[in-house]
Amino acid sequence: MAVNEVPLLDLKAQYQSIREEITAAVHEVMESQYFILGPKVKAFEEKVAEYCQSEYAVGVSSGSDALLIALMALDVQPGDEVITTAYSFFATAGSISRLQARPVLVDIDPHTFNIDPGQIEPVITKKTKAIIPVHLYGQMADMQSIMKIADRYNIAVIEDAAQAIGSEDDQGRRAGSIGTIGCFSFFPSKNLGGFGDGGLVTTNNEALYQKLMYLRNHGAYPKYYHKMIGGNFRLDALQAAVLDVKLNYLDNWTAGRQANADFYDEGLRSRGLTHVITPPNRIAGYRHIFNQYNIRAQQRDALLKYLKEHKVGCEIYYPVTFNNQECFAYLNYKQGDFAEAEKAADESLAIPIYPELTDEQKSYVLDTIAEFYQ
Ligand SMILES: *Cc1c(COP(=O)(O)O)cnc(C)c1O
Repeated sequence: MAVNEVPLLDLKAQYQSIREEITAAVHEVMESQYFILGPKVKAFEEKVAEYCQSEYAVGVSSGSDALLIALMALDVQPGDEVITTAYSFFATAGSISRLQARPVLVDIDPHTFNIDPGQIEPVITKKTKAIIPVHLYGQMADMQSIMKIADRYNIAVIEDAAQAIGSEDDQGRRAGSIGTIGCFSFFPSKNLGGFGDGGLVTTNNEALYQKLMYLRNHGAYPKYYHKMIGGNFRLDALQAAVLDVKLNYLDNWTAGRQANADFYDEGLRSRGLTHVITPPNRIAGYRHIFNQYNIRAQQRDALLKYLKEHKVGCEIYYPVTFNNQECFAYLNYKQGDFAEAEKAADESLAIPIYPELTDEQKSYVLDTIAEFYQ
């Protein structure tokens, strides 16, 4: 049957391939009636910590809560400043504001869409408590440069690795294993996605690990004796059971995404589209896990409309930079303050990259793009 429709993501295809294993794992939890934390969560934490090359992992309720609990563990207080990128999913900056700390924004490197490390040092002040680089789309930010600066000023680094589980830099170091704390999301559209919300924090620091464990359960230790004020940031056993099964397949799925990215790179080139479409930049020696295949497109909005009309799933990640968000007006940034991020917001477009895509589906995506520019 000729392909005439490609969704941005098709989770049913993945589910079909592992449904029996998942059903058995979920069933086991239901039989145990042990739903909150417990042995399933612990077993998953140990496995995923190893996968992320981290000493410790703490399962939490979402990627957003991972960022929040990380900032809480580092004692970020009202009035403190936290440096981050102007271009990411809302939670990156939102978590800082929720603690009444101030997000201090930095423009992106136009090649990678990640924070430009060269612009971090000028905005460091005595109030700077942390830096949050984001490994956007699944390729790591320049952690070597960022850690050099952070170490020089004795500032903590929280890696927002929500889109980057298993991503590596050119030294083979995995996302979430380099900074003070790493934050992951198991939102269903992430490379390792649960059956609902979930997240994780990683660290190599034992004292921070202990603190994160207290904070995710209202700061209690022992039960009903509260050392500090935390919250309910716990991961469900049902989610851990699902994620534990899926983790076994993650490298295969990543290989599928990478093969799809190669197919697109080559297909854009062979169709002569690279003067209107810029494929994702790949840093030599890095392991890009392609949570998104994000292109820059000329006439982006018209292309988006055309693709949607022809039933090609696509999405803008992200259409508005943090400095231009209504809720951040109080930060007093102006439009134009982060020129590269704002340009990215005007040009970015993500096309389907999920591992189960067939060659026919990818060709349909490429042919539809080619038709638009004809
Ligand atoms: C998905 C995501 C988050 C938030 O994760 P949730 O699990 O949806 O709360 C944070 N940062 C980035 C960069 C993300 O992509």
